[in-house]
Amino acid sequence: MTVLAVDLGGTHATCAAVEGRKILASETVNLPQSLPLAAALAAIAPPLHKLHSTWTAEGIGFGFCGLVDPNRARITSTNGKYTDAVGVDLTSWAREEFGLPLRLENDARLALLGEWYAGAARGETDIVMFTLGTGIGGVAMMGGHLVRGKHQQAGVLGGHIPVTLIGRRCTCGGVGCAESEASGWSLPLIAESWPGFADSALAPGKVTFENVFAWAAKGDKVAQQLVDHCLRVWGAAAVAAVHAFDPDLLVYGGGVMKSAAVILPYVQDYVRQNAWTPWGTVRVTAALLGNDAALLGVTPLFEQELSVVR
Ligand SMILES: [Zn+2]
Repeated sequence: MTVLAVDLGGTHATCAAVEGRKILASETVNLPQSLPLAAALAAIAPPLHKLHSTWTAEGIGFGFCGLVDPNRARITSTNGKYTDAVGVDLTSWAREEFGLPLRLENDARLALLGEWYAGAARGETDIVMFTLGTGIGGVAMMGGHLVRGKHQQAGVLGGHIPVTLIGRRCTCGGVGCAESEASGWSLPLIAESWPGFADSALAPGKVTFENVFAWAAKGDKVAQQLVDHCLRVWGAAAVAAVHAFDPDLLVYGGGVMKSAAVILPYVQDYVRQNAWTPWGTVRVTAALLGNDAALLGVTPLFEQELSVVR
């Protein structure tokens, strides 16, 4: 079957026609920040119509960058983005605009489905996937089913696992989350308050993971300490996820994985040393599909009867 896929992030949306494990065509639309969801839907309608007229899709799989209730196809919380989204009826939009049924899922869950169906986690049934980027996505599959829970928010808040009691305030309302301690948005805040930052090679430029890893490799002390701090945060979140979801495999995706050669061996060692898994060792691997993962996740989203793991 051919399905239209939408992967809606904070600053852009990718629309695609997907058949099985193949992306037939795709188009990315840049969206201004703080755009209402209704305006974003208007912006993605033309490319979706174009794809639909070429490929005749049977449904729309929609990945959204916030908390969602897949059973009702409603967005339940948006963490500051698309503040009108909770009131938007996506099912009606898809039916009225395209005459198609719609399935909604959180974008990180959809990316895990994609990696499970066509990427790094093929053949696995028990997986946790972390996406390290501007924020941190952390989602889980147990026994071949996405973990969703009573309020549809189990197994989807891996970035908001607290890793310290004396940490920063997070955008989710919590304190000391993995995301507020080591993600793209929090990294500049952490760096600027780090002892010695003003004298480090990082001070004059923009603080990004790319710069921090690059200066650490060149021997800058503050950059090295920041890398070490972030690795420990990601390691602690990994152990928490292992203890919560009992996976065989941890999959890591996201833009920060340009430094996979440093991150993956560290997390693998950290998990080996700190997780209580008498049955063996949880494997740690890189995601394979990049931005295509969420798009390819729409096939199993439509084809499978996805049951709830409580
Ligand atoms: Zn948080």
